[in-house]
Amino acid sequence: MKNLIKGLHHVTSMAADAKENNDFFTKVLGMRRVKKTVNFDTPEVYHLYYGDEVGTPGSVMSYFPFGPMPNGRRGAGEVGVTEFAVPKGTLGFWKEHLASKGVKGLRESSFLGDARLELDGPDGDSFALVEAEPENRTAWTGGGIGEADGVLGFHGARFQLRNADATGELLTFMGYQKGDTEGSVTRYRIDGGNAARTIDLEEVPDAPHATQGAGSVHHIAFAVENRAAQLEVRKALMDTGYQVTPVIDRDYFWAIYFRTPGGVLFEIATNEPGFDRDEDTAHLGQALMLPERYRPYRAQIERKLPEIA
Ligand code: ZN
Repeated sequence: MKNLIKGLHHVTSMAADAKENNDFFTKVLGMRRVKKTVNFDTPEVYHLYYGDEVGTPGSVMSYFPFGPMPNGRRGAGEVGVTEFAVPKGTLGFWKEHLASKGVKGLRESSFLGDARLELDGPDGDSFALVEAEPENRTAWTGGGIGEADGVLGFHGARFQLRNADATGELLTFMGYQKGDTEGSVTRYRIDGGNAARTIDLEEVPDAPHATQGAGSVHHIAFAVENRAAQLEVRKALMDTGYQVTPVIDRDYFWAIYFRTPGGVLFEIATNEPGFDRDEDTAHLGQALMLPERYRPYRAQIERKLPEIA
């Protein structure tokens, strides 16, 4: 399926408290909420999307805030770290800013020469800010972080796996190239797509299996240009023996899902139609948008959803 996968599309995680989650992404990380909708299977739970100005694929972090629930336990078989790109030379700013907001788990490190700042999200989510070239990406500035410092989108993600071989093979099949190894982490990289182009596989042979909960990544989505490319990817995966869902309409993209050998749930999502299909860019993410089947129940749904800014 060479040249069909265009980097990351979005990452979807679980949270406990909707307001806390919303405040963290919009006020602490300064990202834009680009969509306020509901979980299409559980409409009394929000589905909140955060990204750049228009929710460009490769910038979109999304959450299901389920209400009070235990935190997930980090371990093998999951996306261990979700990484955001920030401009070079800004980690000093970020460290001070995040500390002033009470963010926990701040730790500077580096991987393959890139400076990183690890941090914990509100539910113990594992994030890292990684210094990177902006390429064609621009940070959203409506959340109080200036353009010179702001989050540009995803850098990539780091999976934690007991054994990375099968997942590495899958990524290669998807068009990624195996890169360098540092310590127990090996880089995979895909060119010809967006700037969210790396997946790093960390082997943790003795780690307990991760348990999902608040702060856990639910699935990671890879971008394809359109529905035709998605069908090609689906066929290639199924011909290789993967069990892939039918194409599902997620209103802002079309989705297929499959479970990978290491345990991580993958999605392939289309770059079309995008988050501005039902709201204009100036007001993106402000109103509660419902999929068609829930629109008759708007009043009941709104009563069950917590207030967020
Ligand atoms: Zn998704």
